[in-house]
Amino acid sequence: MSAETARHPKAGWNSKKSLWGLALSPLVVTVTAQTSMAAEAHRVSFGQLDGGPVEAVVLTNSAGMKARIIAYGAALQELDVPDRGGHLSDVVLSYPDMSGFLRKPQYFGSTVGRYANRIAKGTFTLDGRRYSVPVNDGANSLHGGTRGFDKVLWTISHLGSGPEASATFTYVSPDGEQGYPGELTVSVTYALNERNELITRYRATTTKPTVVNVTNHSYFNLGGASSGRDVLGEWLTIFADRYTPVDSGLIPTGKIVSVAGTPFDFRAPHPIGERIHDAAEAQLVLGRGYDHNFVLNGGATAEPKLAARLEDRRSGRVMELLTTEPGVQFYSGNFLDGIAVGKGGYLYRQSDALCLEPQHFPDTPNQPAFPSARLDPGQVYRHVTIYRFNVGPPAT
Ligand code: BGC
Repeated sequence: MSAETARHPKAGWNSKKSLWGLALSPLVVTVTAQTSMAAEAHRVSFGQLDGGPVEAVVLTNSAGMKARIIAYGAALQELDVPDRGGHLSDVVLSYPDMSGFLRKPQYFGSTVGRYANRIAKGTFTLDGRRYSVPVNDGANSLHGGTRGFDKVLWTISHLGSGPEASATFTYVSPDGEQGYPGELTVSVTYALNERNELITRYRATTTKPTVVNVTNHSYFNLGGASSGRDVLGEWLTIFADRYTPVDSGLIPTGKIVSVAGTPFDFRAPHPIGERIHDAAEAQLVLGRGYDHNFVLNGGATAEPKLAARLEDRRSGRVMELLTTEPGVQFYSGNFLDGIAVGKGGYLYRQSDALCLEPQHFPDTPNQPAFPSARLDPGQVYRHVTIYRFNVGPPAT
Protein backbone atom coordinates (compact mmCIF):
# COMPACT_ATOMS: atom_id res chain seq x y z
CA MET A 1 0.00 0.00 0.00
CA SER A 2 1.48 3.37 -0.92
CA ALA A 3 1.62 6.26 1.50
CA GLU A 4 -0.99 8.04 -0.63
CA THR A 5 -3.61 5.34 -0.13
CA ALA A 6 -2.66 3.91 3.24
CA ARG A 7 -5.20 4.29 6.01
CA HIS A 8 -3.96 3.89 9.52
CA PRO A 9 -5.98 1.66 11.92
CA LYS A 10 -6.40 4.69 14.17
CA ALA A 11 -8.21 6.56 11.39
CA GLY A 12 -10.29 9.37 12.76
CA TRP A 13 -7.95 9.67 15.71
CA ASN A 14 -9.22 13.11 16.47
CA SER A 15 -12.48 13.25 14.58
CA LYS A 16 -14.01 10.22 16.40
CA LYS A 17 -15.41 9.14 12.99
CA SER A 18 -14.06 6.73 10.44
CA LEU A 19 -13.72 7.79 6.81
CA TRP A 20 -17.20 6.56 6.07
CA GLY A 21 -18.76 8.51 8.90
CA LEU A 22 -19.25 5.50 11.18
CA ALA A 23 -18.46 6.03 14.81
CA LEU A 24 -15.59 3.83 15.97
CA SER A 25 -16.95 1.09 18.20
CA PRO A 26 -15.79 1.03 21.83
CA LEU A 27 -14.27 -2.42 21.12
CA VAL A 28 -12.03 -0.99 18.40
CA VAL A 29 -10.98 1.85 20.64
CA THR A 30 -10.09 -0.56 23.46
CA VAL A 31 -8.10 -2.85 21.20
CA THR A 32 -6.26 0.09 19.69
CA ALA A 33 -5.39 1.43 23.10
CA GLN A 34 -4.04 -1.94 24.24
CA THR A 35 -1.89 -2.44 21.18
CA SER A 36 -0.67 1.16 20.81
CA MET A 37 3.11 1.36 20.75
CA ALA A 38 5.50 4.02 21.84
CA ALA A 39 7.10 6.10 19.12
CA GLU A 40 9.99 4.19 17.56
CA ALA A 41 13.24 4.93 15.73
CA HIS A 42 14.83 2.48 13.28
CA ARG A 43 18.03 2.73 11.31
CA VAL A 44 17.67 1.80 7.62
CA SER A 45 19.82 2.02 4.54
CA PHE A 46 19.30 4.75 1.93
CA GLY A 47 22.03 4.22 -0.64
CA GLN A 48 25.66 4.89 -1.35
CA LEU A 49 27.95 7.92 -1.48
CA ASP A 50 31.55 7.64 -2.72
CA GLY A 51 31.38 3.86 -2.20
CA GLY A 52 30.22 4.12 1.41
CA PRO A 53 26.74 3.62 2.88
CA VAL A 54 24.24 6.42 3.43
CA GLU A 55 22.02 5.53 6.34
CA ALA A 56 18.63 6.91 7.27
CA VAL A 57 16.40 6.83 10.32
CA VAL A 58 12.68 6.16 10.25
CA LEU A 59 10.64 7.61 13.12
CA THR A 60 7.08 6.34 13.64
CA ASN A 61 4.31 6.98 16.15
CA SER A 62 1.13 5.08 16.92
CA ALA A 63 -1.04 7.56 14.97
CA GLY A 64 0.70 6.37 11.80
CA MET A 65 2.98 9.36 11.31
CA LYS A 66 6.30 8.48 9.78
CA ALA A 67 9.40 10.59 9.18
CA ARG A 68 12.44 9.38 7.25
CA ILE A 69 15.62 11.42 7.70
CA ILE A 70 18.71 10.62 5.63
CA ALA A 71 22.26 11.17 6.86
CA TYR A 72 23.16 13.04 3.65
CA GLY A 73 22.28 16.63 4.49
CA ALA A 74 20.45 15.41 7.64
CA ALA A 75 17.46 15.77 5.32
CA LEU A 76 13.80 15.00 5.96
CA GLN A 77 13.08 12.77 2.95
CA GLU A 78 9.56 11.56 3.78
CA LEU A 79 6.83 12.72 6.15
CA ASP A 80 3.58 10.77 6.21
CA VAL A 81 0.75 12.63 7.93
CA PRO A 82 -2.91 11.59 8.42
CA ASP A 83 -5.72 13.65 6.93
CA ARG A 84 -9.18 14.25 8.38
CA GLY A 85 -10.18 10.64 7.60
CA GLY A 86 -6.93 9.09 8.81
CA HIS A 87 -5.47 8.61 5.31
CA LEU A 88 -1.72 9.05 5.25
CA SER A 89 0.01 11.16 2.60
CA ASP A 90 3.64 12.09 2.23
CA VAL A 91 3.61 15.89 2.56
CA VAL A 92 7.23 16.77 1.67
CA LEU A 93 8.95 16.95 -1.70
CA SER A 94 12.13 14.92 -2.10
CA TYR A 95 14.02 12.41 -4.18
CA PRO A 96 13.44 8.66 -3.94
CA ASP A 97 17.16 7.83 -3.83
CA MET A 98 20.67 9.31 -3.61
CA SER A 99 21.08 9.90 -7.34
CA GLY A 100 18.58 12.77 -7.34
CA PHE A 101 20.29 14.51 -4.42
CA LEU A 102 23.63 14.31 -6.23
CA ARG A 103 22.40 15.24 -9.73
CA LYS A 104 20.09 18.16 -8.95
CA PRO A 105 20.55 19.45 -5.42
CA GLN A 106 17.43 21.39 -4.40
CA TYR A 107 17.78 21.47 -0.59
CA PHE A 108 14.76 19.13 -0.37
CA GLY A 109 14.23 18.69 3.40
CA SER A 110 17.89 19.45 4.06
CA THR A 111 19.52 20.92 7.09
CA VAL A 112 21.02 24.11 5.65
CA GLY A 113 23.99 26.06 7.01
CA ARG A 114 26.47 27.21 8.14
CA TYR A 115 24.53 30.33 7.15
CA ALA A 116 21.00 29.63 5.86
CA ASN A 117 19.77 31.95 3.10
CA ARG A 118 21.97 34.66 1.57
CA ILE A 119 25.13 36.54 2.41
CA ALA A 120 25.53 39.51 0.07
CA LYS A 121 28.40 39.20 -2.40
CA GLY A 122 29.77 36.25 -0.39
CA THR A 123 31.56 38.40 2.13
CA PHE A 124 31.22 39.70 5.69
CA THR A 125 33.39 41.24 8.38
CA LEU A 126 33.76 39.90 11.91
CA ASP A 127 35.98 41.57 14.52
CA GLY A 128 37.56 43.69 11.80
CA ARG A 129 38.53 40.73 9.63
CA ARG A 130 36.96 40.18 6.25
CA TYR A 131 35.80 36.67 5.30
CA SER A 132 34.89 35.34 1.85
CA VAL A 133 32.39 32.53 1.38
CA PRO A 134 31.51 30.88 -1.95
CA VAL A 135 29.20 32.76 -4.30
CA ASN A 136 26.64 30.28 -5.68
CA ASP A 137 23.51 32.35 -6.34
CA GLY A 138 24.15 35.19 -8.78
CA ALA A 139 26.46 37.57 -6.94
CA ASN A 140 25.62 36.12 -3.51
CA SER A 141 26.26 33.14 -1.29
CA LEU A 142 23.23 30.93 -0.60
CA HIS A 143 22.69 28.32 2.14
CA GLY A 144 26.31 28.00 3.24
CA GLY A 145 28.00 28.00 -0.17
CA THR A 146 28.81 25.39 -2.80
CA ARG A 147 29.19 22.60 -0.24
CA GLY A 148 26.93 23.61 2.61
CA PHE A 149 25.54 21.36 5.32
CA ASP A 150 22.99 19.97 2.82
CA LYS A 151 25.81 18.30 0.86
CA VAL A 152 27.75 16.57 3.63
CA LEU A 153 27.27 13.22 5.30
CA TRP A 154 26.22 13.59 8.91
CA THR A 155 26.87 10.96 11.57
CA ILE A 156 23.90 9.37 13.29
CA SER A 157 25.07 9.80 16.86
CA HIS A 158 21.98 8.80 18.86
CA LEU A 159 18.67 6.95 18.42
CA GLY A 160 15.88 6.78 20.98
CA SER A 161 12.41 5.23 21.23
CA GLY A 162 9.75 5.83 23.88
CA PRO A 163 7.21 8.62 24.38
CA GLU A 164 9.18 10.36 21.65
CA ALA A 165 11.27 8.68 18.97
CA SER A 166 14.41 10.59 18.12
CA ALA A 167 17.56 10.59 16.06
CA THR A 168 20.53 12.93 16.41
CA PHE A 169 22.74 13.79 13.43
CA THR A 170 26.13 15.38 14.05
CA TYR A 171 28.63 17.12 11.80
CA VAL A 172 31.97 18.73 12.58
CA SER A 173 32.62 21.55 10.14
CA PRO A 174 36.37 22.26 10.05
CA ASP A 175 37.78 25.72 10.76
CA GLY A 176 37.70 27.61 7.46
CA GLU A 177 35.28 25.26 5.70
CA GLN A 178 33.50 27.22 2.95
CA GLY A 179 35.38 30.25 4.27
CA TYR A 180 33.69 30.36 7.71
CA PRO A 181 35.89 30.81 10.78
CA GLY A 182 36.01 28.31 13.65
CA GLU A 183 35.53 24.57 13.87
CA LEU A 184 31.79 24.20 14.32
CA THR A 185 30.36 21.09 15.99
CA VAL A 186 26.72 21.04 15.01
CA SER A 187 23.91 18.60 15.71
CA VAL A 188 20.26 18.34 14.84
CA THR A 189 17.88 16.04 16.68
CA TYR A 190 14.65 15.08 14.96
CA ALA A 191 12.01 13.82 17.38
CA LEU A 192 8.49 12.52 16.74
CA ASN A 193 6.04 12.25 19.62
CA GLU A 194 2.53 10.88 20.15
CA ARG A 195 1.02 14.36 19.77
CA ASN A 196 1.96 14.31 16.07
CA GLU A 197 4.72 16.85 16.56
CA LEU A 198 7.94 16.58 14.62
CA ILE A 199 10.52 18.54 16.58
CA THR A 200 13.94 19.71 15.35
CA ARG A 201 16.50 20.72 17.98
CA TYR A 202 19.75 22.29 16.77
CA ARG A 203 22.87 22.82 18.82
CA ALA A 204 26.30 24.16 17.82
CA THR A 205 29.57 25.20 19.42
CA THR A 206 32.60 26.86 17.88
CA THR A 207 36.34 27.17 18.48
CA LYS A 208 36.51 30.77 17.13
CA PRO A 209 34.01 33.63 16.80
CA THR A 210 31.78 32.83 13.82
CA VAL A 211 28.26 33.26 12.41
CA VAL A 212 25.64 30.50 12.53
CA ASN A 213 22.17 30.18 11.06
CA VAL A 214 20.95 26.63 10.68
CA THR A 215 17.46 25.60 9.58
CA ASN A 216 15.47 22.97 7.75
CA HIS A 217 14.54 23.46 4.12
CA SER A 218 11.48 21.20 3.75
CA TYR A 219 9.07 21.86 0.90
CA PHE A 220 5.54 21.17 2.19
CA ASN A 221 2.33 20.39 0.36
CA LEU A 222 -0.28 19.36 2.92
CA GLY A 223 -2.54 17.97 0.19
CA GLY A 224 0.24 15.48 -0.60
CA ALA A 225 3.55 15.99 -2.36
CA SER A 226 2.29 14.20 -5.49
CA SER A 227 -1.40 14.99 -5.14
CA GLY A 228 -1.62 16.90 -8.40
CA ARG A 229 -2.63 20.02 -6.52
CA ASP A 230 -0.30 22.96 -5.95
CA VAL A 231 -0.19 24.93 -2.70
CA LEU A 232 -1.82 28.11 -4.00
CA GLY A 233 -5.12 26.98 -2.45
CA GLU A 234 -3.62 26.26 0.96
CA TRP A 235 -4.26 28.84 3.67
CA LEU A 236 -1.39 30.47 5.48
CA THR A 237 -1.16 32.52 8.64
CA ILE A 238 2.13 34.12 9.72
CA PHE A 239 2.32 35.82 13.09
CA ALA A 240 4.38 38.73 11.84
CA ASP A 241 3.50 42.43 11.69
CA ARG A 242 6.64 43.19 9.67
CA TYR A 243 8.90 41.71 7.03
CA THR A 244 12.25 42.48 5.40
CA PRO A 245 11.94 43.69 1.77
CA VAL A 246 14.67 42.66 -0.67
CA ASP A 247 16.61 43.95 -3.66
CA SER A 248 16.81 42.22 -7.04
CA GLY A 249 19.36 39.72 -5.68
CA LEU A 250 16.96 38.83 -2.84
CA ILE A 251 19.22 40.52 -0.30
CA PRO A 252 17.34 42.47 2.41
CA THR A 253 17.49 46.21 1.84
CA GLY A 254 17.95 46.65 5.60
CA LYS A 255 14.49 48.12 6.08
CA ILE A 256 11.94 46.39 8.29
CA VAL A 257 8.48 47.37 7.10
CA SER A 258 4.87 46.79 8.09
CA VAL A 259 2.87 44.11 6.27
CA ALA A 260 -0.32 46.15 6.71
CA GLY A 261 -2.17 46.78 3.46
CA THR A 262 0.19 44.59 1.42
CA PRO A 263 0.03 41.00 0.06
CA PHE A 264 2.50 40.20 2.86
CA ASP A 265 -0.20 40.57 5.50
CA PHE A 266 -0.82 36.98 6.60
CA ARG A 267 -1.83 37.92 10.14
CA ALA A 268 -5.26 36.48 9.29
CA PRO A 269 -5.36 33.32 7.13
CA HIS A 270 -5.19 33.84 3.36
CA PRO A 271 -4.92 31.37 0.49
CA ILE A 272 -1.34 31.58 -0.78
CA GLY A 273 -2.51 32.23 -4.35
CA GLU A 274 -4.95 34.99 -3.45
CA ARG A 275 -2.50 37.89 -3.94
CA ILE A 276 0.58 36.21 -5.40
CA HIS A 277 -0.10 37.47 -8.95
CA ASP A 278 -0.33 41.12 -7.89
CA ALA A 279 2.30 42.75 -10.11
CA ALA A 280 1.57 46.13 -8.50
CA GLU A 281 3.52 44.85 -5.50
CA ALA A 282 7.16 45.28 -6.54
CA GLN A 283 8.38 42.86 -3.87
CA LEU A 284 6.37 40.01 -5.40
CA VAL A 285 7.89 40.83 -8.78
CA LEU A 286 11.44 40.76 -7.34
CA GLY A 287 10.79 37.45 -5.55
CA ARG A 288 8.80 35.91 -8.43
CA GLY A 289 6.28 35.35 -5.67
CA TYR A 290 6.94 35.09 -1.97
CA ASP A 291 10.60 34.65 -1.02
CA HIS A 292 10.85 36.88 2.02
CA ASN A 293 11.81 36.87 5.66
CA PHE A 294 8.97 37.62 8.07
CA VAL A 295 9.88 39.24 11.39
CA LEU A 296 8.08 37.16 14.00
CA ASN A 297 6.20 39.19 16.58
CA GLY A 298 7.68 37.31 19.51
CA GLY A 299 11.31 37.82 18.38
CA ALA A 300 13.93 35.27 19.41
CA THR A 301 12.61 33.24 22.34
CA ALA A 302 13.91 30.63 24.78
CA GLU A 303 10.88 28.39 24.14
CA PRO A 304 9.22 27.82 20.75
CA LYS A 305 6.36 30.22 20.01
CA LEU A 306 3.65 29.99 17.37
CA ALA A 307 5.06 31.43 14.15
CA ALA A 308 2.81 30.20 11.33
CA ARG A 309 -0.09 27.95 10.48
CA LEU A 310 -0.65 26.20 7.16
CA GLU A 311 -4.02 24.63 6.39
CA ASP A 312 -5.19 22.42 3.55
CA ARG A 313 -8.92 22.71 3.98
CA ARG A 314 -9.61 19.86 1.52
CA SER A 315 -7.66 17.13 3.29
CA GLY A 316 -8.09 18.81 6.66
CA ARG A 317 -4.35 18.70 7.40
CA VAL A 318 -3.07 21.60 9.48
CA MET A 319 0.54 22.30 10.30
CA GLU A 320 1.47 24.72 13.06
CA LEU A 321 5.02 25.95 13.10
CA LEU A 322 6.54 26.93 16.44
CA THR A 323 10.08 28.22 16.75
CA THR A 324 12.61 29.92 18.97
CA GLU A 325 13.99 31.81 15.93
CA PRO A 326 13.22 35.51 15.28
CA GLY A 327 12.29 35.11 11.59
CA VAL A 328 10.74 32.76 9.08
CA GLN A 329 11.48 32.67 5.36
CA PHE A 330 8.29 32.06 3.38
CA TYR A 331 9.32 30.77 -0.02
CA SER A 332 6.47 29.82 -2.39
CA GLY A 333 8.50 27.40 -4.51
CA ASN A 334 9.08 30.02 -7.22
CA PHE A 335 12.16 28.40 -8.72
CA LEU A 336 10.73 24.87 -8.97
CA ASP A 337 10.69 24.76 -12.73
CA GLY A 338 10.18 21.13 -13.64
CA ILE A 339 13.86 20.17 -13.52
CA ALA A 340 13.40 17.93 -10.49
CA VAL A 341 11.71 14.53 -10.74
CA GLY A 342 10.83 13.41 -7.26
CA LYS A 343 9.35 10.44 -5.45
CA GLY A 344 7.00 8.33 -7.57
CA GLY A 345 8.33 9.86 -10.82
CA TYR A 346 6.45 13.08 -10.08
CA LEU A 347 7.69 16.23 -11.84
CA TYR A 348 7.87 19.17 -9.43
CA ARG A 349 6.69 22.47 -10.86
CA GLN A 350 6.32 26.03 -9.62
CA SER A 351 4.16 26.33 -6.46
CA ASP A 352 3.92 22.56 -5.98
CA ALA A 353 5.14 23.23 -2.43
CA LEU A 354 6.24 25.97 -0.09
CA CYS A 355 9.00 26.36 2.47
CA LEU A 356 8.66 27.94 5.89
CA GLU A 357 12.23 28.21 7.17
CA PRO A 358 12.68 29.46 10.74
CA GLN A 359 15.89 31.45 10.86
CA HIS A 360 17.89 34.54 11.68
CA PHE A 361 17.34 37.12 8.97
CA PRO A 362 19.13 36.76 5.63
CA ASP A 363 22.45 38.61 5.31
CA THR A 364 22.56 39.35 9.05
CA PRO A 365 26.40 39.28 9.11
CA ASN A 366 26.24 42.47 6.97
CA GLN A 367 23.23 44.03 8.70
CA PRO A 368 24.08 45.36 12.17
CA ALA A 369 20.44 46.27 12.90
CA PHE A 370 19.25 42.64 12.58
CA PRO A 371 19.32 40.23 15.57
CA SER A 372 22.90 38.94 15.74
CA ALA A 373 23.90 35.55 14.34
CA ARG A 374 27.29 35.62 16.02
CA LEU A 375 28.51 32.62 18.05
CA ASP A 376 31.56 32.82 20.32
CA PRO A 377 33.62 30.02 21.86
CA GLY A 378 32.02 28.95 25.15
CA GLN A 379 28.51 29.82 23.91
CA VAL A 380 25.98 27.27 22.68
CA TYR A 381 23.84 27.96 19.62
CA ARG A 382 20.34 26.57 20.18
CA HIS A 383 17.35 26.56 17.88
CA VAL A 384 14.15 24.54 18.35
CA THR A 385 11.38 24.29 15.77
CA ILE A 386 8.20 22.23 16.12
CA TYR A 387 6.07 21.09 13.16
CA ARG A 388 2.75 20.26 14.86
CA PHE A 389 0.18 18.37 12.77
CA ASN A 390 -3.51 18.30 13.39
CA VAL A 391 -6.74 18.26 11.41
CA GLY A 392 -9.24 21.04 10.93
CA PRO A 393 -13.01 20.94 10.42
CA PRO A 394 -14.41 20.01 6.98
CA ALA A 395 -14.38 22.87 4.46
CA THR A 396 -17.77 24.55 4.19
C1 BGC B 1 15.48 30.85 -0.75
C2 BGC B 1 15.16 30.87 -2.21
C3 BGC B 1 15.95 29.80 -2.89
C4 BGC B 1 15.60 28.48 -2.26
C5 BGC B 1 16.41 27.37 -2.85
C6 BGC B 1 15.10 29.52 -0.21
O1 BGC B 1 15.41 29.45 1.15
O2 BGC B 1 14.84 31.87 -0.05
O3 BGC B 1 15.49 32.12 -2.77
O4 BGC B 1 15.69 29.76 -4.26
O5 BGC B 1 15.83 28.53 -0.89
O6 BGC B 1 15.79 26.17 -2.66
